[in-house]
Amino acid sequence: MSEQLSEARQAVTTLVFMFDSAIEISQNIDEQLQQIFEHSVLTSCCEQGESLFADFSEDPFEGLSYRAFLERLSNGEGEEGLYSATQHLKAFISSGYLANIQNFQWLVKGQAISFAVELQASCCDQKLHELRVVISENTQERGRDDLVFSIAHGLSAASNETFFPCLAEYLTTKLGVDFVSITKSCGEDELKNIVFSDRGELITTDCVFKIEGPFQHYYNRIICYPDRVASIFSDSSWFTENHVQAFMSVALYSSGGEILGIIALMHCQEFDDIDLARSLLTIFSVRAAAELELQEKKRREEYKQNRYSALVESSPNGIVVLDIDPPLSVELSIREQVKHLVQYARYAECNPAFLRIHGLKKSSDAIGCALDEVEMISDFAGQLREFVFNHYVTKDQVTKVFTQAGEEFWLSNTLTGHIEDGHLMRIFGVCTDVSEQVRQTQLLAHQANHDELTQLPNRSCFKHNVEQTLAELAEGEKVAIFLLDLDGFKEINDTLGHATGDILLQMVGPRIRKVLDDDTVILARLGGDEFGFLVRNPGAHTDIIDRALLLVGAIKTPFTVNELDLCVGGSVGISLYPDDGDDFSALMRCADVAMYRAKHQSRDFEIYDAAHDHYSVRRLSLMMDLRAAIGDQLLLYYQPIISLSDKSVQGFEALVRWQHPVHGMLFPDEFIPLIELTDVIDPLTWWVIETAIKQLQQWQLQGLDYSLSVNVSTRNIADDSFTYRLSRLLRKYKVDSRKLEMEITESTLMADPVKGHSVLTAMAAMGIRFAIDDFGTGYSSLAYLKSLPVNTLKIDRTFISQMLESSQDEVIVNSTIQLAHNLGMNVTAEGIENGLLLEELAKLGCDHGQGFFICRPMPLADLKSWVSLYERGNQHVTGTVQSVAHTE
Ligand code: C2E
Ligand code: CA
Ligand code: CA
Repeated sequence: MSEQLSEARQAVTTLVFMFDSAIEISQNIDEQLQQIFEHSVLTSCCEQGESLFADFSEDPFEGLSYRAFLERLSNGEGEEGLYSATQHLKAFISSGYLANIQNFQWLVKGQAISFAVELQASCCDQKLHELRVVISENTQERGRDDLVFSIAHGLSAASNETFFPCLAEYLTTKLGVDFVSITKSCGEDELKNIVFSDRGELITTDCVFKIEGPFQHYYNRIICYPDRVASIFSDSSWFTENHVQAFMSVALYSSGGEILGIIALMHCQEFDDIDLARSLLTIFSVRAAAELELQEKKRREEYKQNRYSALVESSPNGIVVLDIDPPLSVELSIREQVKHLVQYARYAECNPAFLRIHGLKKSSDAIGCALDEVEMISDFAGQLREFVFNHYVTKDQVTKVFTQAGEEFWLSNTLTGHIEDGHLMRIFGVCTDVSEQVRQTQLLAHQANHDELTQLPNRSCFKHNVEQTLAELAEGEKVAIFLLDLDGFKEINDTLGHATGDILLQMVGPRIRKVLDDDTVILARLGGDEFGFLVRNPGAHTDIIDRALLLVGAIKTPFTVNELDLCVGGSVGISLYPDDGDDFSALMRCADVAMYRAKHQSRDFEIYDAAHDHYSVRRLSLMMDLRAAIGDQLLLYYQPIISLSDKSVQGFEALVRWQHPVHGMLFPDEFIPLIELTDVIDPLTWWVIETAIKQLQQWQLQGLDYSLSVNVSTRNIADDSFTYRLSRLLRKYKVDSRKLEMEITESTLMADPVKGHSVLTAMAAMGIRFAIDDFGTGYSSLAYLKSLPVNTLKIDRTFISQMLESSQDEVIVNSTIQLAHNLGMNVTAEGIENGLLLEELAKLGCDHGQGFFICRPMPLADLKSWVSLYERGNQHVTGTVQSVAHTE
């Protein structure tokens, strides 16, 4: 500061102004001001005051009024200085004459000098008696403050990027130092340059340098080496090369106490004003640290933001932000909330994937739009309701959506609502296109439920459908299950190939459809050539029959495949709910039983009838008993076979009966078909055969020449040891093998013609005779019959009974007789139920006959008396009369 100015100004000077007359403090401020200004007289001015004012003026100050005094001081500043002094005085008065300190600046000999001025007043009796003005100079403090203020002011205008360069520049110029370095710490022992000022030239490159020289103590708050730096740190070349003498640095600490960087001043001489340097560093280190921290935070946030937006931009998932404006009150009812969302939710942001998924070209196609303007969701309101109901969250909700072009696709949506003060402000959404997965799942589900060839529902789907229908039924509702099995399909497959068979199967579905009056009825392919469907409330019995006839009619119409007309038939089995069962498996089983019976009976359809069900529960439980019953409860009935030419008794057919302890007398139809499927048929057959052989032995001993026929099943002759066992028994009882005839049904033989042929040939070689039973039902070919060593053909009773009414049956019977005779076989007619038949058959040349007209099967005990009665009558004693006695 100025050397010419008096030293005395540093001290405190008190000036006392007295008034001409005491001033009434009750007067208004302006009057008081006026009186203080005009009627005051400077009375005392201490020694310091004299010398202080000497710099202002050589004229004496004593005797000046306060106003004149102020004018003299403010001579350089004129009105301006006086005005501000007046204002201060006003404030002093209005504050009740309290100490009032102000800063004044005056120009003294061309230099700005500042003073702290304190006004004091002495009052008593509501009067102001004197004014004391306490003055001390504070030019130097003011100068430093102004400097700090001007730097701070300059810096406040600086932006993020210019802050540090600006600071470096200020420090360089205001402190007049050669080098200013501002760095941030990076790693353990390195600093990164933020800005470096080389005598005012700023370098802002990003270079990193090692911490060395005085920087080594950088973590100390303030370091100061006032001189000889280069020689103290002689190993740090930069300091020697640049002749650095003085060094001062301040560490920049974060609010968390972490060191962020350093500001260092370096000078090639001693610092001009070391205290100023220290205080500037101290003051600006705080600001610089905050700035650095802010920049670092910004950088991190920017990085995060960049990373986040990179993620959003490149995400394969659609990401959106929806703004709800006005925000939605969560207090509203769900319905109102949904309405609000439909109306006011708007797309605010969306990423490229969202646009791509929705087939939109640019973000403006979505932004600003309402929800339903961008995607058409199949159950739009429902989805929003769920979102609201679920507390504004939905997770991976798979939704069917349509593009604006009407294309269908599937999205998995995850939505999260953002709530502030009870209002939904916005929704964040992430969506993924899951169309491919959904299609795949649908395909798999379809495949799991459909037959690949016909694309009809498969068995498991049918089961599901039936179960569902049964569950939905109201009281009293009925259901019919129709099962259709094609007849003759195997032949088409075998002769024309599978490809043709496949085409035919594909044509069956549409045919069946035609007889169903409801499109929603599930028609299923249950396997192979088996189809099924369900009819709810099928109507009366006659309606069911009509439908079955229609169905078979539809199937019987030839199918044209590859220009060939193919004929197949069908057998339909029908079961009814609730009559036949109350679940899927029971109903299916009954329909199956009915269907097989239809096939067996060569009928088009059959409605389930428990009487024909060999597998009913009662029968199944019977089977358990049978094994134990053999030999105990089984017995043979004998039905006579007579010669039709002379009516003599030729022999008998042995027919098994089961005297059940609980169920009474059981007929073979009730248990044979069932046990034929199990091993139990074996012991049964052998019991029958042995009993029959024993009976033959008896007759031989009694001199009776009867033959005896027994029935054997497939399972029996399939056993390789059959022939051997049989011949052993014949030998054992010394029975003439020609008297024992084995009856094998035609269908049994035809089930495995090759095996049948070999067994029969072996049996014939041993002299055992056999008959083909139920002839006419098994479609054996003439050539095959010819190759078999058959003794007898037994014409099935269905032909015989119809013979008189149906000329077709008569032709069959007649030609069978001729054919058999041509092949050297005997013919036996079964089921002769009246005398007319008997005569007619005799006329046709049929060899033997058997039937209720002659005699019903009877127990052994009755046999003898029947024979004598029959022979005594010589002519036809009616079988009916006989049979009454035998209770069959
Ligand atoms: P099948 O071999 O055809 O036996 C003749 C069946 O016709 C007998 O029934 C007999 O009672 C019946 N029948 C005889 N004359 C007439 C008639 O004028 N009118 C009518 N409507 N029916 C007549 P059954 O005894 O109930 O036997 C039924 C079937 O059981 C037999 O048919 C046979 O296939 C089987 N079967 C009987 N006994 C045995 C056996 O010991 N072993 C095996 N494997 N099957 C047997
Ligand atoms: Ca028989
Ligand atoms: Ca028969």
